[in-house]
Amino acid sequence: MYRVTKNLSFCYGHRLMNHAGKCRHLHGHSARVAITLESEDLNEQGMVCDFSDIKTFAEQWIQETLDHTMLLHQDDPVLPMLQEAGERIMVVAEHPTAEFLAKLIYEHVDRGGFPVKAVTVWESDTSSATYTASDATHR
Ligand SMILES: [Zn+2]
Repeated sequence: MYRVTKNLSFCYGHRLMNHAGKCRHLHGHSARVAITLESEDLNEQGMVCDFSDIKTFAEQWIQETLDHTMLLHQDDPVLPMLQEAGERIMVVAEHPTAEFLAKLIYEHVDRGGFPVKAVTVWESDTSSATYTASDATHR
């Protein structure tokens, strides 16, 4: 089995409404993303996937969708004010954690037809969250 990993980075803001500590306040992260693809076989170029193909596909979407975006829960009371001010916001039905971001990016890469195995989002140098397909559902 072969695995390749492409690392990308982006900045985002969020807050966690149910958090007892300081994460309940609006704040931001300079995040790193590791996208891991897996394949039993290599293509005719001897690769799982050309690094530039996954970079182009994932980075463009991340830049347009997540980079410098404030991710907020749909029930967050600051939402109307920030929307009215024209801020760049993504409204989500779940809590906008690193776990949520890992799954969101995983699903985007999967929809693109890449053999994604796992996506890890590092929200700081010491904290990361990974989403991976369960063995039962992975192709
Ligand atoms: Zn945070």
